Amino acid sequence: MIVMKFGGTSVEDARAMTTVIEIVERERHRKPVVVLSAIAGATNMLLDAARLSVEGKLDEATRLLNELLERHVLILENLITHRTTIQELILEIRRRFDELKNLCQGIAILGELTNRSLDAIASVGERLSTLIVARGMEERGLPAELVDARSFMMTDEQYANAAPQMPFIETKARELLLPLINTGKIVITQGFIGSTRKGITTTLGRGGSDYSAAIIGAVLDAEEIQIWTDVDGVLTGDPRIVPSAKKLKVISFREASELAYFGAKVLHPSTILPAVKKNIPVIVLNSRRPAASGTRIVSDPPKSNAAVKSIASKKGITVINIQSTRMLMAYGFLESIFSVFSRHKTPVDLVSTSEVAVSLTIDNTSRLEEILQELESFAEVSVFRNKAIVCIVGEQMHSTVGIADRIFHALGDINVMMISQGASEINMSLVVDETDVVEAVRRLHKEFFEPVPELEIFESIGTNSSD
Ligand code: ASP
Ligand code: MG
Repeated sequence: MIVMKFGGTSVEDARAMTTVIEIVERERHRKPVVVLSAIAGATNMLLDAARLSVEGKLDEATRLLNELLERHVLILENLITHRTTIQELILEIRRRFDELKNLCQGIAILGELTNRSLDAIASVGERLSTLIVARGMEERGLPAELVDARSFMMTDEQYANAAPQMPFIETKARELLLPLINTGKIVITQGFIGSTRKGITTTLGRGGSDYSAAIIGAVLDAEEIQIWTDVDGVLTGDPRIVPSAKKLKVISFREASELAYFGAKVLHPSTILPAVKKNIPVIVLNSRRPAASGTRIVSDPPKSNAAVKSIASKKGITVINIQSTRMLMAYGFLESIFSVFSRHKTPVDLVSTSEVAVSLTIDNTSRLEEILQELESFAEVSVFRNKAIVCIVGEQMHSTVGIADRIFHALGDINVMMISQGASEINMSLVVDETDVVEAVRRLHKEFFEPVPELEIFESIGTNSSD
């Protein structure tokens, strides 16, 4: 069996949902379990409605909910042809929005909004998208079976960011889903939502439906997990910077993890860990171009001649240079530095050290003033803003001679302020001026991917996605 997860843009309207149904039908022989997100934007709207309610803006909250209700009604009217099914669904959806409005009223009266209520409200998005798609499938003669994820996705009670309880999920999911799958049913279920063991609705955190898909795939021993989204997969570079960027047919999980920080808008690799641990390949596919082959993310990709797989970049970086006032890397110096950042909950991204100084980068500067004040009590500190990180990623970089040479040669006259080679040895990160970053990425891309180093791994892409 396989797991097929479709994100919000893949179910954003009736046309998109029709494509989803066609894609699932095409894979029917592989016994798919279908995991869906809420329709694009629904989760945000639901959470906004809750927040407006607690601020006493019940009218605005109601307006938002009505807008969302209308969107769902419009979708089902365009997806379903049977009049009675439409009537039935409209009634059901209205009933759920009535419940939502009651919840919002309660929140407004109490003036209190807990994560537990937020989860109850947010869960409606996935529960509606799955309901509509399941009916759409049935109408097309597919044996769809809607299973509420809360019947098997057991979590702890950390509302809004609940942790899945794997042993329970495994038992429950196998018990509930396997008999359905084995009798030829196409199981449809919600991503993102779960339930405490007492039956109270939880969510796995924003963007959690990839995580749901990975968990379901892992506990059911799926042969493959497909993540359908609106991009072609993982690319060799940002197509807005390098229009000739190629798609990677396969990438290692570790490479994908490095790229995730740079907002490679594909998926967050930590969410697919349950799949990686079980060696289940995860394939990122584009539901707007279902014939394209996507990118496979695997734990052990085939060896390739291409040492570099992708070049990513991120602007808005601040570099902080910290020099021990004693001009010695006294013992405990690094610890004092990092404890300042951790006290201020500010992640440090790159670090490079010399005998007397430490350079590091952060991208969240909301606590910078406080951080500097503390650092200055024991070190000399200088700050450089408007920098960018360029990250060159490839599993075989460390074992390939001459990569650094090629990198610096390609960069030519672009000034590199800081270099850091990750402990994972699969990336090299450089800090440059923000004004140089586009040129730096273009030069590096040209050096490593033009012409394409290996056809087995890289593939041209057609039209680029809209978002
Ligand atoms: N609908 C949820 C969100 O927007 C979960 C997801 O789409 O992954 O965060
Ligand atoms: Mg998502």
